[in-house]
Amino acid sequence: MIVIMQPNASARQISDVIARIRAMGYEVHLSEGEAHTIIGVIGQGRTLDRENLSTMDGVQDVLRVTHPFKIASRYYHPEDSIIPLGTSLVGGQDLAIIAGPCSVEGRSEILEIAHAVREAGATALRGGAFKPRTSPYSFQGLGEEGLQYLAEAREQTGLAVVTEVMDQNLVPLVCQYADVLQVGARNMQNYSLLHAVGESQHPVLLKRGMSSRIEELLMAAEYILSHGNMRVMLCERGIRTFETETRNTFDINAIPALKHLSHLPVIADPSHGTGKWEYVESVSLAAVAAGADGLIIEVHQDPEQALSDGRQSLKPERFAELVRKARLVAQAMGRQVVEPAANAAKER
Ligand code: PEP
Ligand code: MN
Repeated sequence: MIVIMQPNASARQISDVIARIRAMGYEVHLSEGEAHTIIGVIGQGRTLDRENLSTMDGVQDVLRVTHPFKIASRYYHPEDSIIPLGTSLVGGQDLAIIAGPCSVEGRSEILEIAHAVREAGATALRGGAFKPRTSPYSFQGLGEEGLQYLAEAREQTGLAVVTEVMDQNLVPLVCQYADVLQVGARNMQNYSLLHAVGESQHPVLLKRGMSSRIEELLMAAEYILSHGNMRVMLCERGIRTFETETRNTFDINAIPALKHLSHLPVIADPSHGTGKWEYVESVSLAAVAAGADGLIIEVHQDPEQALSDGRQSLKPERFAELVRKARLVAQAMGRQVVEPAANAAKER
């Protein structure tokens, strides 16, 4: 249930409503919007008396939220959430392009690719130092050494760093180096990890599990949000279907559906969504047209030699072309691709 306060409700009226809700055994989450304060009622207490709340001073409306996710819901936060990506922002008018290799392979490799994607117009740098691989014999990532190289790349280019954290115990370490913690598709329902990244208050990129429904993705986000960490970006990265021509099936429907159901920014990952570099540009442009707030794209200087996901990685020149076209589609949608370090003050 959510309580929508009148636009001119006083602090006293708001605190009286909160006290009444708490007396019924529930917790509250406050959302201070431009027009209204919205009070989300969370948890399991006595049956909530809706009539009783709606007659309190300063209350405009009391709505039952039928979705199982609450804080992630657009009812609770009607405006788009705008959250930080290093010194720039994602959401609202601003579209982010996160790019880089699947894995951090070495110091010179990541520095070279960071400069190349920066030059091509990327907003942020991606690269895994801890890699979730299907085979235990495949390259598992450079670990902390990889994180250090990412931090050096950030220093040299100003690009924010997005990198995966696979284990709850590694959250404090990855927070030291990363601007955004990526929770990978395989870990979308790792609840201990979701609690830990929620507690960290660090921005999170939460990827949809390869066999997860949209509602399950939003419930996973709810775990993070329930710790008061509102800095969550959702990521559509393709799902498993009967189709084998592509690695996954990029679910374009998920973009408008998530934007309708939730206020959280939605990032599209056409690299994992298709698994083939030839299709990455088309699906990227479709995702921007469908309303995505950003793209995450795998880029490698020598895809054939890549230690992971070379088949779906773009060369820097092709990535530059993608950015050029994405800017045009963004413009047609009334939006803009953000440069790093642009307007850091608007977070909501
Ligand atoms: C990745 O981003 O390289 C990755 C492992 O993605 P996913 O978790 O979506 O498979
Ligand atoms: Mn990858």
